[in-house]
Amino acid sequence: MSDSLHIVCPHCSAVNRIPDARLNDGPGCGKCHRQLFAAHPVELRADTFQQHISRNDLPVVVDFWAPWCGPCKMMAPAFEQAAGQLEPRVRLAKLNTEIEQAIASRYNIRSIPTLAIFRNGQEIARQAGAMAAPDIIRWVQAHT
Ligand SMILES: [Zn+2]
Repeated sequence: MSDSLHIVCPHCSAVNRIPDARLNDGPGCGKCHRQLFAAHPVELRADTFQQHISRNDLPVVVDFWAPWCGPCKMMAPAFEQAAGQLEPRVRLAKLNTEIEQAIASRYNIRSIPTLAIFRNGQEIARQAGAMAAPDIIRWVQAHT
């Protein structure tokens, strides 16, 4: 484990290099100066998805969801809550599969919500179905 981590900014997608010891001090982005961790999942799009899952030195948990999906909406507050608990050691992100159908199809998302954990761009775990916040946290911690 190196002494610093690459953290992709949730706001401008710039790659920041943050000393490990400073991760808990509320580090800001060197480019846009906003908080790198705000206890809030990052909304990913086609042009930012790859950057976030492959350039972060943190595991990235992606919630594949859609606006028309009831269980997805039910899980959204739990996912938000999990972000508050898991940051800054894990990045939580959301992908709207209705808008970004090409990404959903590339990752073979068959039902939503589906959560997938990526590390260095590789998927390391996947779980379909809505979960409560404690279950999300437990599941993520078991795989990271
Ligand atoms: Zn930024």
